Amino acid sequence: MKVKKVQLYKTVYTPDELPQTPYNEVAFVGRSNVGKSSLLNAVANNFKLAKVSSQPGKTRSINFYLVNDRFFLVDLPGYGFAKVPLKEQQRWRELIESYLKGRDRLKGVFLLVDSKVGPTEKDLQMKEWLDFFGIPYTVVATKVDRLKASQRRNLEERIKKALGGGDFKVIPFSAKTREGREVLLREIFNYIES
Ligand code: GDP
Repeated sequence: MKVKKVQLYKTVYTPDELPQTPYNEVAFVGRSNVGKSSLLNAVANNFKLAKVSSQPGKTRSINFYLVNDRFFLVDLPGYGFAKVPLKEQQRWRELIESYLKGRDRLKGVFLLVDSKVGPTEKDLQMKEWLDFFGIPYTVVATKVDRLKASQRRNLEERIKKALGGGDFKVIPFSAKTREGREVLLREIFNYIES
């Protein structure tokens, strides 16, 4: 798959703003600072769609990006930033929950986990949410360029185990070296076509 065109289609702040769209979609989620914006920019051939954050946890919106006039990449707001007030966290929860339970066209979710930090409690909760809603997902281990060779060994198995196992793949990825980009694109396409 070649990414030829990417347009911001809609930015959503509240559940009632979620659009019904004619195209299939895949969504990206993870804790703040996991490297989601960098990954999206790498996937979208540096169309500079997502702003790489200097201030983690600032984006509280869901962004719909239309790719090649054919499908959506959906950028879900990051979670797990301790300084975010409780009210804001509740708003996040409501928005994500409305999104996850109401999307017929959502074919798969990419759950981003920092390869060096490993899955956090919030990542585990997210995974359980996806299981609960019966949404297929793939885990992406981000920033693998930061790992030593010894830390790379069995990375996929270790992450899988830390998340309690299940029927999902783990893709090692680096926005810096672009490792894993082709595998990720293929996975996106498989979901969109499913
Ligand atoms: P987001 O908050 O999840 O959107 O994360 P960002 O994409 O803004 O990245 C957070 C920080 O991690 C930034 O300082 C990035 O430069 C850095 N980062 C993101 N991806 C990579 C990567 O693949 N390798 C390395 N070494 N750093 C990365």
